[in-house]
Amino acid sequence: MNMGDDLYREIILENYKSKKNRGALESPAFHQEGVNPSCGDDIELYIKSDGERITDVSFDGMGCSICLASANMLCEAIRGMKVDEAERLIDGVKGMLTRNEVPDFPDGAEDLEAIQGVANYPVRVKCALLSWNTLNQILEEIRGESA
Ligand code: ZN
Repeated sequence: MNMGDDLYREIILENYKSKKNRGALESPAFHQEGVNPSCGDDIELYIKSDGERITDVSFDGMGCSICLASANMLCEAIRGMKVDEAERLIDGVKGMLTRNEVPDFPDGAEDLEAIQGVANYPVRVKCALLSWNTLNQILEEIRGESA
């Protein structure tokens, strides 16, 4: 236990409690449900995009603290990002949680380092990655439409 752990716990708690990114976006918006049966996490992710950038993002649903904190961090990090930047960020988060890679997140996404400790708990990695896997599905859909 060190200072870093306390700081990280506080960041996770803040993101878990935040209501700023909660609720559906008005249509037209991309949306996709993500379910993690092993924990009971069940979220819905909403994205607006002009084909190049993610212009707005929100989520709704139920889940554990790790799942909801990670989804909130996702919203904070990718709003305004280009689609390919968001794809790189998904890869960075997966690398941190499943391949023990040292994260190198862009400005505005540093909070994500707070969930790095989840990598030590394989069951919880699914919770942390749920929103990111859901995002990946939506980005594929956006790519398909603008191709
Ligand atoms: Zn969970």
